[in-house]
Amino acid sequence: MKKAVVLGAGYAGLKTVVELQKKCRGQVEITLVDENDYHYEATDLHEVASGNLPASKITFPITDVLDPRMTTLILAHVARVDEEKHLVILDGHAPLEYDYCVFALGFVSETFGIKGAAENSLPMTDVKEAEAIHEHIIKQMEDYRQTKDENDLRIIICGAGFTGIELAGALADARVRYAKLAGVTPDQIKIDIIDASKRLLPMFNDKLADYGIKLLEKLDVNIITEALIQEIQPGVVLYKGANDEEGTPLHKIVGNTIIWTTGVSGSPVVAESHLQERRGRVMDTAHLTAPDHDNLYMIGDVAAVMPPDGKRPYPTTAQIALSMANYVAKDIAARVKGTSRPGAYTYKSLGTVASVGNTRAFGEAGGHSFKGYPASVMKKMIMNKSLMELGGFRELFAKGRFDLYH
Ligand SMILES: Cc1cc2nc3c(=O)[nH]c(=O)nc-3n(C[C@H](O)[C@H](O)[C@H](O)COP(=O)(O)OP(=O)(O)OC[C@H]3O[C@@H](n4cnc5c(N)ncnc54)[C@H](O)[C@@H]3O)c2cc1C
Repeated sequence: MKKAVVLGAGYAGLKTVVELQKKCRGQVEITLVDENDYHYEATDLHEVASGNLPASKITFPITDVLDPRMTTLILAHVARVDEEKHLVILDGHAPLEYDYCVFALGFVSETFGIKGAAENSLPMTDVKEAEAIHEHIIKQMEDYRQTKDENDLRIIICGAGFTGIELAGALADARVRYAKLAGVTPDQIKIDIIDASKRLLPMFNDKLADYGIKLLEKLDVNIITEALIQEIQPGVVLYKGANDEEGTPLHKIVGNTIIWTTGVSGSPVVAESHLQERRGRVMDTAHLTAPDHDNLYMIGDVAAVMPPDGKRPYPTTAQIALSMANYVAKDIAARVKGTSRPGAYTYKSLGTVASVGNTRAFGEAGGHSFKGYPASVMKKMIMNKSLMELGGFRELFAKGRFDLYH
């Protein structure tokens, strides 16, 4: 029987397993490796970081969706893949042999080498980091009662991309709760978001991007654009204005919670595996394999896939990760059964919706723009669809977002 080893139980990895279990019963032995025994919905990490949702609401046990007759789960850290020998090297576990390997280890925080960013700011790339952010904020609010230091009430988000904007909205929703803890009024909790770009949210048209920005401003989030971060010191962000003249001293914002959301790169295990990569991403072949390694599929946030005639790869999203997993399961099934392989991978985005707190959102789907409450309902439906695709009705009913009426 052929051996498929799937690395990572995020959107890409878990979906591959779910589909292989349906398509290759009795024909493939699957081993799934993850360092956690739970799957998490990475698209909801900001809700955990803000404390608006507990981690249990965005996670479920991986074994819930595994068929033990076909799939074995190994809890271990993947160190690297040796594609020449068809081996996966794990920390503290015997190496795994494979016929097909699906590499889906997701993303890590990217500091772009900015001094002090790793040491003095909080990343938000997995559940533990999101929980650590929430615990940190709570501690600052409680500390304020003793210190009366206004910096305890200040939260700074570095990076106003999709993730930073969603986080800012979630934090604004949580303000009333934080204020109670600190014994202050909600308007005393300051939220700053800082970014190098002039025009934020480039994935949306101008009207929608403006709408999103105005929404945040209404929620009293201070947006600083064209600010090139130079260094993070404990409690201080130092930046240069894009239009500053030579010799202008650096600007600074101070606050005792600094969160880092400037961007992500693919898993460092990609480089450890000596694959040709850029920022942890491999430029895939038409079958979503690594160049010259037809048995090694690279999917989700470790993959760069070019649109036809495109200049830049598709943005890495949960949506494309799920779509890649579907394709890979089809491709492996065809190879195992000896039928013809599907044609080159193609992708069509279903649209993008960004939430700004629990009841507001904006985005586009099917050529239409959506704003406000209807967009927020749509966002929750998108989350529910992804849960359904991975965990079926069981996880949908247990963890789905049905708080649609406000
Ligand atoms: C706050 C936030 C909001 C987002 N919102 C959206 C959105 O609205 N829509 C959208 O489409 N996308 C969104 N994204 C992007 C989306 O979450 C990612 O593109 C998606 O998670 C990538 O899926 P993946 O399967 O490649 O990786 P992941 O979902 O990150 O899964 C990787 C898995 O690998 C495991 N793992 C990692 N390294 C190792 C190792 N060395 N050994 C063992 N296991 C390991 C992890 O535990 C994890 O289970 C958002 C991201 C964030 C952070």
